[in-house]
Amino acid sequence: MTQKLIMSLFAVIIIGVFSGCDKSDGEKTGDALPQTKSDSASASVIDEETYRRHVATLASDEFGGRRPNSKGEELTVDYLVSTFKSLGLSPGNGDSYIQKVPLISVEVTNRPALTINDNKGNTLVLEYGKEQVVSTRRQIPDSELLNSEVVFVGYGINAPERNWNDYANVDVKGKTVIVLINDPGFATQNPNLFNGNSMTYYGRWTYKYDEAARQGATGVIIIHDTKPAAYPWATVENSWIGPQFDIRRRDQGKDLAAVESWINKEKATALFEMAGIDLTAMYQRAQTPGFEAVEMNLTASTSLKTQTNEVVSKNVAALIKGSEKPEEIFVYMAHWDHLGIDASAAGDGIFNGAFDNATGTSGLLELAAAFSNLKSSPRRSVLFLAVTAEEQGLLGSHYYAANPLFPLQNTVAGLNMDGLNNIGATHDVTVIGYGFSQLDGVAEIEANKQGRVLAADREAEKGKYFRSDHFELAKLGVPMMYLKGGYDHKENGLDYGLMKSAEYTANHYHRVSDEYHADWNVSGALDDLQLYFQIGTAISNGSDWPNWNDGSEFKALRDAQRTPH
Ligand SMILES: [Zn+2]
Repeated sequence: MTQKLIMSLFAVIIIGVFSGCDKSDGEKTGDALPQTKSDSASASVIDEETYRRHVATLASDEFGGRRPNSKGEELTVDYLVSTFKSLGLSPGNGDSYIQKVPLISVEVTNRPALTINDNKGNTLVLEYGKEQVVSTRRQIPDSELLNSEVVFVGYGINAPERNWNDYANVDVKGKTVIVLINDPGFATQNPNLFNGNSMTYYGRWTYKYDEAARQGATGVIIIHDTKPAAYPWATVENSWIGPQFDIRRRDQGKDLAAVESWINKEKATALFEMAGIDLTAMYQRAQTPGFEAVEMNLTASTSLKTQTNEVVSKNVAALIKGSEKPEEIFVYMAHWDHLGIDASAAGDGIFNGAFDNATGTSGLLELAAAFSNLKSSPRRSVLFLAVTAEEQGLLGSHYYAANPLFPLQNTVAGLNMDGLNNIGATHDVTVIGYGFSQLDGVAEIEANKQGRVLAADREAEKGKYFRSDHFELAKLGVPMMYLKGGYDHKENGLDYGLMKSAEYTANHYHRVSDEYHADWNVSGALDDLQLYFQIGTAISNGSDWPNWNDGSEFKALRDAQRTPH
């Protein structure tokens, strides 16, 4: 134990001073012989040169921005499979490293208007794009609302564990629900209401759409509001116009609402005025426990023409088989895809996606290398999962969760990587979804061994936990971690870390300028990967089943999943 602690301190010093230029087990053969096996979980296991080579390759122009169903996908998938193979990992899907992911693209082609009528002959027409975006996840040529009655359902939340049901005492079957974005906790900043400033899953648009469908609604209208949505109307407009990839839906998605939509705040105000209802007062009521839905005495109509196309993309899965409990799985995941090429975009039009997510994918490969270098396999199996179509709405991970290669009830926990530190080592580690599960405890022990501390997400109101791949497994019950680089920069302090992060978001996020540069300081990524390795080692060598904390929206699901029947 003491020796391990010394070794880990030693590793931190090595990484800190020499920027991870050496493995602590030191031996580099320089030829084709296998590398010296590491016998300590706390020794530095990530190789900087290899990590940089992976990032540079995946983010190269040749890989064309790694869009699903492109030449870039072929190159990327081949690169991942051959790397896993050369490391000696087993295929994760029988005798294959590939899990095929059938995708459907759905595009609304007729720019439909959304028309609201009252019973006095008044009409309000909302223009497509500027004032509303109507869409559908039904994979059929025509979807419509025909004089569908409109009901205001507040935040559209049904949360039994919080005793909150916006759908109590109202029947919305065949009707169109109009809902607010985010949740009452964010709106009131009351820490005792939902999770206060920190968004819950109930705040996400995906949840609003899915719950409305479960309630039998035919239409959904979300009122956009920049602050609680965490992005401006332009983002809504850009995201929902054009082809939308989706998984192939059972029954062509007929269990979903026919029409899903966003409207801007200005038109929402006009719509409520038309009904003689004060929207501001409705916000207040919706934030109060015991809220009851309000019939608007309005109807909604629209008619969508859609074009659908089928494509097949790929998840890549590789396995280190456990020595004692091979059926129990710890999963590392990262999305390999990015946005591809847009000839009309600035510069060369290639969205290289270096940070997002060549870094996480390279980290996945380096973690696989670290595990393959261990003298003895861990007790439990470790799955390395590179998923597709994250940028299209977490589709590769969604498909995996619906068609898991290993049963979810045997999946102990997992860790997702999306964007690894490129600004240098930090004292802190950001936990997105801090306080959600007992996995925080594992992360804390291992971070402390590195002389580092956990820090809660600084922008918890943005609901980032619900916006990357781990969430697809989390929402089916599996406790999942989403860790990110810290901000408290070891050399330049906290303000520097915050400044660099803001700079990335403003200038490079989802832009062609997200490119790899040889002068990136990857010491922080190496520290973080070392930490991720130690967390995975601790869990895969242990016998605990870390669970969601009490009050979590996913705990009941996990408890049921883990109950033998
Ligand atoms: Zn990403």
